[in-house]
Amino acid sequence: MTEPSSAGRLPLLEDLGELAGKHVLVRLDLNVPLVEDASGARRVADDFRIRAALPTLEYLLKRGAEVTIATHLGRPKGKVDPRYSVAPVASRLEELGIKAKVLENLRFDPGEEAGSEVLARQLAQGQDLFVNDAFGTMHRPHASVVGLPRLLPSAAGRLVEKEMAALGPLLSEPPRPFVVVIGGAKVGDKIGLLRSLSARADRVLVGGGMAFTFMAALGHGIGDSILDGERLEDCRNLLEEKAQLILPVDFVAAGPEVSIEPREASGDAAVDRADRTGVTVVGTEIPAGWKGLDIGPVTSEAFRQVVLSAGAVMWNGPMGVFEDPRFAAGTYEVAKAMAETKAFTVVGGGDSAAALDRFGLAQEMDHISTGGGASLELLELGDLPGLEALRESGARQGEERR
Ligand code: AMP
Repeated sequence: MTEPSSAGRLPLLEDLGELAGKHVLVRLDLNVPLVEDASGARRVADDFRIRAALPTLEYLLKRGAEVTIATHLGRPKGKVDPRYSVAPVASRLEELGIKAKVLENLRFDPGEEAGSEVLARQLAQGQDLFVNDAFGTMHRPHASVVGLPRLLPSAAGRLVEKEMAALGPLLSEPPRPFVVVIGGAKVGDKIGLLRSLSARADRVLVGGGMAFTFMAALGHGIGDSILDGERLEDCRNLLEEKAQLILPVDFVAAGPEVSIEPREASGDAAVDRADRTGVTVVGTEIPAGWKGLDIGPVTSEAFRQVVLSAGAVMWNGPMGVFEDPRFAAGTYEVAKAMAETKAFTVVGGGDSAAALDRFGLAQEMDHISTGGGASLELLELGDLPGLEALRESGARQGEERR
């Protein structure tokens, strides 16, 4: 791993010291889905992220801190937009018994995403301490993420602590064999990740749409499967350098007449069978006009065996278009193997977490990251700007105490 650029350990809530009467600013990720009722009023549709923040908030409130909460919500793009007001979030927090002030959406101010020091100073005004518990934004050099720890004695909240307890060992000393399963549509944004993961992991199993750029790089026919033509050279180089990369040996492919759509299985075997017209299993060559949409059964079984005999498994990205039941089997087999294996299992959020929910297997994982992008960037780069800023703040506090 690349050693973190600022040494020292991550300061935790316990390191903040006496809290009674202290003003504590808490950065949370309360970016929750909202619904509008008939009267046009907005309310929280799923309060999972709000409830996940309670341990940190309760720790601070129980000890007599005056808490102010800051979060982003949606993508207002630096403008005040009432559709993204945090008012519904504040109401839900109140219903849950949290007595705290809630600041309006951080991203209403363009300074947040620009990492403005001016905004960080405004936010820090009147505050004694800062807590960051928004793991999902730790890879962004935003004002609230990197600016605030420079201005206030700071600590990581409970969610960030939990993420690091799960992801930290994968960076330093993962139980071996350390297996990474990676899929999803696009290879472009994951090349750097694949390169650094191949250095760290014993096996990297590649599925999903991204596998086809690798297959094409090897000279296989991929028909009309998804291809990132600009990454062919990168994929070719990676395959030459990294023996850890394992590609599928068969696929579920669909002919030109098949339309692909997200839906539930019908539950009627006859209907589902008829539905398979134009869908077939092929080897490493996809016929012209056909699209590869899932890994095939031989690949699923091979991936399953690797996952079952692993010491640790990190999974990110579906093995196929799992939203359509005809192309969900590969993702399901990997999810099931993740549930069955004795290995330490970590899921990198996003679509893989959605797939696990769909299959009812989410409870079987050791850890599902709350930040897909952040967890991948942590594995790729070995550190995140938000974590680094917290450690630097902790080191400064340590020096002042000495
Ligand atoms: P990503 O956002 O890159 O993780 O991609 C997730 C999406 O990849 C899911 O919505 C899948 O439907 C899609 N996907 C997975 N396999 C394929 C494939 N073989 N062809 C096209 N899309 C795929």
